[in-house]
Amino acid sequence: MESEGAGGPAGTVCPRCGEARARTVEQARGGKGALRDDLYGRLAPGPDKTGDGCMHAAQGMVLTGLGIALAYTGVQQGRSLYTIAGVALALLCVIGTLVVVRGDGREKAAAEDGAQRAERVWRPAYYCSGCSSVFCPGGTPWRGALTPEQFKKFVWTEAGYADQLLAGDKAKDATVPADVLSVGDRTARPAPGHGA
Ligand SMILES: [Zn+2]
Repeated sequence: MESEGAGGPAGTVCPRCGEARARTVEQARGGKGALRDDLYGRLAPGPDKTGDGCMHAAQGMVLTGLGIALAYTGVQQGRSLYTIAGVALALLCVIGTLVVVRGDGREKAAAEDGAQRAERVWRPAYYCSGCSSVFCPGGTPWRGALTPEQFKKFVWTEAGYADQLLAGDKAKDATVPADVLSVGDRTARPAPGHGA
């Protein structure tokens, strides 16, 4: 059979176990069994940053409010220790909140910057539920069959935000085979020394 390059449904046979009903990772994330196997998170193309900054700002404001309330109580009751502690708490919370929210902003910017690079290697990938591996039909743009953890590490590394993988995420400790990782470089530079 000569079925090179064309892609399409005929190309979605899993190279590891031969299962012919592999789905795109996007379908797999939202499809049947996705919840049970936590595919939504395990195949995520990037960090989920929605509302993170607002959440932290709100928490910071509540704590700051407590500090101000304490200081106010101190003033009312003539207890300077309360006042000092309250003011210190409020100041700490304001500073802490600013630092955290700025950090959130930086991570969010990195995620937005890398989203396109992630998309390039994530979008064409298929997930086989038979053996839980991720691959690209025809081996483009990358070769091999990866575990969901290796795949996630690979995508996030390509995008430049692998440092945002959370502690406890198995993808953080996954090792991506070197020949998969080099795919991006290979397409970027011309073939070496093929002159005359
Ligand atoms: Zn398979």
